[in-house]
Amino acid sequence: DVISQGGGRIASLSAESHKILNRRLEIDRKMYTALDRNTLQVAYQPQLDIKSNSINCYEALIRWEDEELGVISPDELIPIAEENGLIEEVGAFVAEEAMTFATKWHRAGTEMNISINSSIRESLNPQWKNRLLSILNETGCPANKVSLEFTEKFALKAEEEQSVITQMSELQSLGLQFTLDDFGSGYASLRYLQHLPITSIKFDRVFIDTLLSNSKTQQLIEGMIQFSKTMNLYTIAEGVRNEQQFELLKEMGIDAVQGHFIGKPVPAEQIEIK
Ligand code: C2E
Ligand code: MG
Ligand code: MG
Ligand code: MG
Repeated sequence: DVISQGGGRIASLSAESHKILNRRLEIDRKMYTALDRNTLQVAYQPQLDIKSNSINCYEALIRWEDEELGVISPDELIPIAEENGLIEEVGAFVAEEAMTFATKWHRAGTEMNISINSSIRESLNPQWKNRLLSILNETGCPANKVSLEFTEKFALKAEEEQSVITQMSELQSLGLQFTLDDFGSGYASLRYLQHLPITSIKFDRVFIDTLLSNSKTQQLIEGMIQFSKTMNLYTIAEGVRNEQQFELLKEMGIDAVQGHFIGKPVPAEQIEIK
């Protein structure tokens, strides 16, 4: 590893980068035990469907707090897990929790969807589909209650894309849905949209942030909503923080909204299953 390779290199790092590097190494090291001991958690954020004016979905978001490292945000954790290969373990953990949660609703006689963030790296494994199927089986979760959210972080190679499409299509035929998350923030969103079996798009929070102050953003979102209707896509806005944003998005014809205005992510215990 980097530390043992050369004290000289480390010594030349500034105190600040040394701290960052150390934290990364600690997160990497502690992730194994956290997975083993089940100390990772999942929070759920509601999503409001405009047409029915009700919460129709909860998004599962990973949470990790360590005694020494404090809160480790998903934005820190996920890239490290993608690098050290634990992303599949992390993904399976979140999927198990979230599907168990959805099953509770189902057994209570309420139809509630759950949305699980997934790294496209997980789908590159040919066993991806089968692992998901066995989690659905174990938890008793109906496949049509689950959607997986992908962020377009990078473009897929042609052969990777083919394997992902094949597995996704099989999952879709069982009822699973796919959402393109953080839409508009990456480089490959239109390519993903064109090739992957996606049925919803979630506009990135940066667009919602500037919606009220920037007329171009308004036109862009309005146009994207119209385009989505033509494409038969369900549209979601994330990061909605106030009533003005909410009303404007509704006027524009958005299908669903999510954000602190609707509800913050909370542990499952704090959600009443009706
Ligand atoms: P995301 O999927 O786009 O999730 C939305 C993020 O925005 C969440 O941050 C959520 O807590 C935050 N958020 C929601 N509403 C508001 C709001 O009104 N205002 C503001 N300022 N923030 C809001 P979080 O939980 O830190 O997650 C960050 C990202 O990490 C997620 O973005 C997702 O891409 C990724 N992530 C989270 N959990 C998982 C997971 O289990 N697996 C994978 N692969 N990625 C995950
Ligand atoms: Mg998401
Ligand atoms: Mg998002
Ligand atoms: Mg995001």
